Amino acid sequence: MPDLDPEEFRRLGHQLVDWVADYRAGVADLPVRSEVAPGWVRSQLPAELPEEPRPLDALLAEVDRVVVPGTTHWQHPSFFGYFPANASLTSLLGDMLSTGLGVQGMLWSTSPACTEVEQVLLDGLAGALGLGPEFTFAGGGGGSIQDSASSSALVALLAALHRSSKTRASGEGWRETGVDGTERIYVTAETHSSLAKAVRVAGLGARALRIVDPSPGSLAMSPAALAAALAADAAAGLRPILVCPTVGTTGTGAIDPVRAVAEVAREHGVWVHVDAAWAGVAALCPEFRDLLDGVELVDSFCTNAHKWLLTAFDASLLWVRDATALPGALSITPEYLRNAATDSGDVVDYRDWQVSLGRRFRALKLWTVVHSYGLAGLRAHVREHVALAAAFADRVREDPGFALAVEPSLALVCLRVVTGGGDAADDAASRRVLEHINASGAALLTHTVVDGRYVIRVAIGSMATTKEHVDALWAQLVATAAQVRAEVAAAG
Ligand SMILES: *Cc1c(COP(=O)(O)O)cnc(C)c1O
Repeated sequence: MPDLDPEEFRRLGHQLVDWVADYRAGVADLPVRSEVAPGWVRSQLPAELPEEPRPLDALLAEVDRVVVPGTTHWQHPSFFGYFPANASLTSLLGDMLSTGLGVQGMLWSTSPACTEVEQVLLDGLAGALGLGPEFTFAGGGGGSIQDSASSSALVALLAALHRSSKTRASGEGWRETGVDGTERIYVTAETHSSLAKAVRVAGLGARALRIVDPSPGSLAMSPAALAAALAADAAAGLRPILVCPTVGTTGTGAIDPVRAVAEVAREHGVWVHVDAAWAGVAALCPEFRDLLDGVELVDSFCTNAHKWLLTAFDASLLWVRDATALPGALSITPEYLRNAATDSGDVVDYRDWQVSLGRRFRALKLWTVVHSYGLAGLRAHVREHVALAAAFADRVREDPGFALAVEPSLALVCLRVVTGGGDAADDAASRRVLEHINASGAALLTHTVVDGRYVIRVAIGSMATTKEHVDALWAQLVATAAQVRAEVAAAG
C-alpha cells in the first residue's frame, strides 16, 4: 500500500501544524473542562467506519465538531487540576522527529541511536538533578525512559523481588518460583495508587502492602514507624522487599524523608524506590535539591518529564544504581532476538528495562526539550511556578475566609474555605466552591481528603499559566466563596 507521497505529506503536515497552532493560540478562550454528558461523543460519531478513503479535511472538521468540545484542555492556562501535563510545542516537534524516523528500539541493534541518545540524556539529567555518578552508566547504574511512573514503580518492584530472591537459601529465585505470600512492601497512606497497583500486578496480593504511619503532625513517612514495621515483619518470618518514599505526594505534595527512610531500609537490605513523579524535576534548581537529600542511598528514582518538565506524555525517567538489576529480573531472550551486539555484553538493550518488548524513540522528544530550553530554561520554568504558588499561598494566609490545609509544596497549594460554622460546614463550602468554579469553565481545580477533611488543590504548572491567571483564580475563589456563604446563610 503506497503511503502519502512526500509532497502530499508536506501539504497535509502544514495543514495539521496550522490546526495545532490555532488550537493552542485559542485554547485560553475555551472552557477548561469539557461539559459533555457521558455518551455524547459516541453519539456524534457514525457507527459505520468509512469503506472508502476520505480527505483529511473531513476528519479535522469532525475533530472540531466532536473532539474539541469533548476535551478537557490540559494546556489551558487556568488548568490547576491534578498535576500539570506539560505538552510543549517544542516536545511535539521532537515527537514528530521520533515518529518520522519510525524506529522500534527494543534492542541496541535495532537502532543504536535510539538507545545511546537515551543513555546520554539520562546520564546528563542525572547530573543536572544531583543524583550522583552512581546513577549513570559510567558509574554502574543508569537511566531509562518509561511510559509512566506506574510502569517505573512496577519494574522497580520486580527488580526488588529478584534481588531479594537471590539471597534465599533454597537457591530457587523469584524468577523460578514466583511469589510465596511473605513479601512485604512499605508505603504511606499518601503514596500514589500506582504502588498498590504494582503490588497487584506482581501478584503479591493486598496483604503485601504495609501502610507506614506518618511522623506526628505531618503526612510524611515516619522513619521510626518504618523501622518498627520492618523489624516486626522480619521477626515474623515475612520478607520486606521494597520501601517507597515519595517526594511530593499527589494529594498534598508531602515529602517523605528519603535519607532517614533509606538508612532504615538498608539495615534490612530492602530496595528503596523514590517516587518523585511530579516534584523530582524541581531538583534541577539547586535551591530545591534538598528535596532529594539521601538519594545517593536509594536503589531507584523516578520523576516524570511528562508532568512539569515541558515534555508531552509519555516520558517517565527511571534511574537505578545497579544497571544489571532490571535485566536480571526481566530479560528473556528467544532465539529471534539474539544478536552479536547483545552477546558481546557491550550494549544496553532497553527491552530488558521495561515490561513491553517494543519501545518508541522517546529520547528525541526529551532531547528536543532539553536542547531548546537549555537547563537554564527548565529551571526558570520550575521557579516561575513555585514563585506563583508562594504568592498565591500568601493570599490564602492573609484572608480569614480561607486557610491553608497544609503548607504549600513547591507549586501545589492546598486550601479550604473557612465559614466560621465548623469543620463540616467548611468542608461542604469548599466542595461547593470547587464545583462552582469547575462548572464555570473559567478554571479547573481538583480536590483531595486529608484526615477526613475536604481540601481544594491548586496545582500551578501549566506552561501558559502566568500571574494574570493565578490572580483571576484567586478573585474567582473569593467571589465564589462569598456567594456560597450567602447561599448557606439564606438556607439556614
Ligand atoms: C502522577 C503520579 C504518579 C503516576 O504517574 P504516571 O506517569 O501517570 O503513572 C505516580 N506517583 C506520583 C507521586 C504522581 O504524582
